[in-house]
Amino acid sequence: GPPVMHSFSSLLVVGGAFFMMLRINQGLALIALLAVPIVAGAVAHFGEKIHDKSKDIQDYFGDISARVQENLSGVRVIRAFTQEENETRLFHRMNEEFVKRNRSLIRLTATFYPVLHGVIGMMFVIVFYFGGRRMLAGSMTVGSFVAFNFYLGRMIWPLIALGWVINLFQRGMASMRRLSEVWDITPPAEAAEEGYDRSVPLEPEIVISHLTFAYTNHDVLKDVSLQIAAGQTVGIVGRTGSGKSTLLALLSRYFSAPAGTIFIGGRPLESIPLYDLREMIGMVPQETFLFSETISENIRFGKAVASMEEVNRVARLAGLGDDLTGFTDGLETVIGERGITLSGGQKQRTAIARAIVRDPAILILDDALSAVDTSTEERILGALRDVRRGRTVLIVSHRVSSVKDADMIVVLDEGRLVEQGTHEELIARDGYYAGLYRRQTLEEEIAEIA
Ligand code: ATP
Ligand code: MG
Repeated sequence: GPPVMHSFSSLLVVGGAFFMMLRINQGLALIALLAVPIVAGAVAHFGEKIHDKSKDIQDYFGDISARVQENLSGVRVIRAFTQEENETRLFHRMNEEFVKRNRSLIRLTATFYPVLHGVIGMMFVIVFYFGGRRMLAGSMTVGSFVAFNFYLGRMIWPLIALGWVINLFQRGMASMRRLSEVWDITPPAEAAEEGYDRSVPLEPEIVISHLTFAYTNHDVLKDVSLQIAAGQTVGIVGRTGSGKSTLLALLSRYFSAPAGTIFIGGRPLESIPLYDLREMIGMVPQETFLFSETISENIRFGKAVASMEEVNRVARLAGLGDDLTGFTDGLETVIGERGITLSGGQKQRTAIARAIVRDPAILILDDALSAVDTSTEERILGALRDVRRGRTVLIVSHRVSSVKDADMIVVLDEGRLVEQGTHEELIARDGYYAGLYRRQTLEEEIAEIA
């Protein structure tokens, strides 16, 4: 490209000029040659410093942006803990630091050019001195001295440019190395995905077989085995930290389970291309994340080509109907930074709509109804029941009411699958689930009396 062309023509000019200088006066040309390493050294030295400082400034700017973003999305917390002034002060401090770092870069570039000109000036002084002596001694004509200086001028500027080009090239190489580190990572499963047959749609049937998994060195799931037939609804309950979200994360392959422990439609999970896998899964994560756009755009995030009717239908299915009539612009209401203007329950229901608009073969709700009351929950689950037909549904919940109608309920305890059965079976078993059920019905009764 152009930089290469530029370097090449620079090299030609430098080489040609130096050749001419040698022809005019060898001694003088060798003196001029001495300046080359000094100029090159200065360019390289300053270039590196300027590069480091610019990177420093870029990184710091990243910190400031991150802080601003956190402040915007966490504005409720900041207000609730009356931290406005602290945060404003911190922001000022960060900006001052940013200005300070920029000033130091400016000082550096401001010294660079005078130093460069100084070195070049010195070289001319030296050349003038020796050239002058030769002229006075009569061993060099004024004409060749003028010509020599002309060539010297032609030679020195491309050298400086060359210094910059080398500097740019080094920076580029550094970035390139970092990029290729990322590009060179091959997902372990990719090889197995070759020859995958897309023409046979996968049945949403899930088999988990002796699954043990650890994020670091502590097993979060221990020897979990479970079979879920296509079209079944499965409820997953268990204490906080028992591994429910982890199990779902492994199913969607946000983390990789050991090979041969999870199968979908009879195929090992690791042999299914990620895109195909994620396409068949509609996930409502435990932590709702919405973008600062309109509600309909957030729902369309699940399926970009969804028509207005579809968006409307899934919004209603997810129980957003009544909320929408309360908003001035209905579905076209712009929600604040990360959905700050929506209530927790409205956010969750938007996320549910986003998942079901994909019409996924497997629908996963990770504690996705925790922010709505039981009667709203019942209404949504009832509506989802129509969506569910032929679809496998996994519902994680801390509430018995979300899972009691499921075809199968499993209980996780410290990563182990300790109970499995229908609501009636687990009540009869009188274990964790039965205890949970008793506690929650008691709470409900107390709430009704009060
Ligand atoms: P909750 O009901 O509170 O959502 P959970 O059953 O979903 O809990 P998990 O989120 O699966 O529990 O967490 C199980 C264990 O794994 C916990 O001890 C948690 O600290 C750990 N854990 C979860 N995510 C990670 C992660 N990304 N890296 C390391 N450890 C993790
Ligand atoms: Mg969880």
